Amino acid sequence: MEFDVMVIGGGVAGVSAALRASELGKTVALVERDQIGGECINRACIPSKTLIDAVKAISRVSSSPWLISTSKIDYSKLNENKGKIISAIKEKMEKNLSKNNVKTLKGEAKIKAQGEVEVNGKIHTSEYLVLSTGSVPLSLPDFPLNDKNVLDPWTAMNLKEIKDRIVIVGGGVAGVELATLFRSLDKEVTILELMPQLLPGFDRDLAQATKKRLEEKGIRVFLNAKSKITSSDGLVKFSVNLPNSSEEIVGDLAVITIGRKATTENLNLKELGVETDQRGYIKVDSQGRTSNPKVFAAGDVAGVPLSATKAWRQGLVAGDNIGGKSSRMPKYIPSSIFADMEIGTIGRTAEDLKKAGVEAKEILVEMKDIPRAWTVNETEGFLKLVIAGDKIEGAHMIGEGATEVINTLAVVMELGVTVNQLYSVTFSHPTVSEVIGEAIQRLTIGEIY
Ligand SMILES: Cc1cc2nc3c(=O)[nH]c(=O)nc-3n(C[C@H](O)[C@H](O)[C@H](O)COP(=O)(O)OP(=O)(O)OC[C@H]3O[C@@H](n4cnc5c(N)ncnc54)[C@H](O)[C@@H]3O)c2cc1C
Repeated sequence: MEFDVMVIGGGVAGVSAALRASELGKTVALVERDQIGGECINRACIPSKTLIDAVKAISRVSSSPWLISTSKIDYSKLNENKGKIISAIKEKMEKNLSKNNVKTLKGEAKIKAQGEVEVNGKIHTSEYLVLSTGSVPLSLPDFPLNDKNVLDPWTAMNLKEIKDRIVIVGGGVAGVELATLFRSLDKEVTILELMPQLLPGFDRDLAQATKKRLEEKGIRVFLNAKSKITSSDGLVKFSVNLPNSSEEIVGDLAVITIGRKATTENLNLKELGVETDQRGYIKVDSQGRTSNPKVFAAGDVAGVPLSATKAWRQGLVAGDNIGGKSSRMPKYIPSSIFADMEIGTIGRTAEDLKKAGVEAKEILVEMKDIPRAWTVNETEGFLKLVIAGDKIEGAHMIGEGATEVINTLAVVMELGVTVNQLYSVTFSHPTVSEVIGEAIQRLTIGEIY
């Protein structure tokens, strides 16, 4: 065999699998047909956060009357900077792969048989395969992408000039983040969400607080909105059926944030005996192993959650197990949303637990009870902990610093730290993390929300 492992797809999942297997002594090749870093680095997490962090800086200034400034965004310069950031991160990744002796093959990988992969007409062989080919936006019949005025998030973010009236289909993570971005650029923004709640699947109070903030910023949010595009000639027209009315909504641009599909063409899954679920995602166990013991899968191609957070970890776990170090996916995977008010969430809601027959209680601390929230002029939001027995089973936070605080709670939850153990920990003052200490102190005296 030419290699111990061939990793197909060089997004975050593939890069982490390749690095880990190599660190554990395996000979590794990584095949990428486009750009190392995949969606996250080139088209999703990094570019969107670069843009959002910039507009949030402006928003912070404008909501602080004591900061006298005439700052405004030069979108083309910001985009230029975004390009530089992407290149810098990608270059670091490439150097790291090469330092770790991972052989990068540029080209489309076509799996011919077990352990046989064709790249640019040449067959390469390996004992193990890692499938990390990601996912791509799906053009849905009711929202057909047209590369013109009905676009996926990446294409929309990259427009040189952003149109004035933007309709975003889908009020999930990407929809909320893009609405934040476009509204901060003074665009008229409407979100159409099919479900009765913005951020479906998230804690209900957290979703409600997000909706309130978006609406305060002037974003229109329609829930229970069954919509479809009726015309995209010039303007984009939507018919929208709401519970008690129907409306026509018109925009200059539609951004479709719903619908992705696993990239599995050329993987020859049938020949490999690799099973997929009903939606076409590859089925894996907690070690990232598919139904074929010599084939692993990681990242978006292996199903929900479609997040770089999960993708990176799953790649690491696949690399571990191929390299002879037994490891499993963590029980809890945090998720962050970089909206006008940040969101960090992990684990289950009390509602989820109730459905599963587990008795749980909640404690909620408002951010205005935390001194740091006042010094940074963002006193809205809260941390809600969901407690079952003496452990935290869920943490849902909205407010300043939520995307960082949630990582501390990930440590607590993954390691099974009890409420009483956590009570012995001190958090530095004045920091947003003190919200955890405050919640735990209240819990120990039984002040239950
Ligand atoms: C707007 C937006 C913002 C997001 N922000 C966040 C965020 O802040 N945090 C977060 O955790 N997640 C975020 N995500 C999700 C995140 O981008 C994805 O979950 C993540 O990129 C998936 O990584 P992956 O390695 O599984 O797949 P990908 O990044 O899709 O990489 C797969 C790679 O495989 C290559 N490939 C496919 N087939 C072949 C083949 N046959 N041969 C060779 N190469 C092949 C592709 O070219 C691609 O580079 C965001 C998504 C969107 C759309």
